[in-house]
Amino acid sequence: MSDEQPLRPRTRVKRALVRLIGRRVVCADCGRPLFVGLPIVWRGRVRILGADDELVRVSFTTQDTLQFRHVQLYDCPSPERPWVA
Ligand SMILES: [Zn+2]
Repeated sequence: MSDEQPLRPRTRVKRALVRLIGRRVVCADCGRPLFVGLPIVWRGRVRILGADDELVRVSFTTQDTLQFRHVQLYDCPSPERPWVA
């Protein structure tokens, strides 16, 4: 017997949408994939379906462009951290 709860219909629809039309988001520092997400603008907020399980840092690079980065530095190799594989 499985311990997993069956997914709610709303969750299944969200996951199907992300799987069908979501885009891969990569870290701006290292280029590794962070998640597959689908941005939705709703009631003055931007929500990114598919990003719920990831811990990322978000910043604006221009007025209309966001960048995502790893929060945990041990996940993010860069020239400043050559010891991270
Ligand atoms: Zn990174």
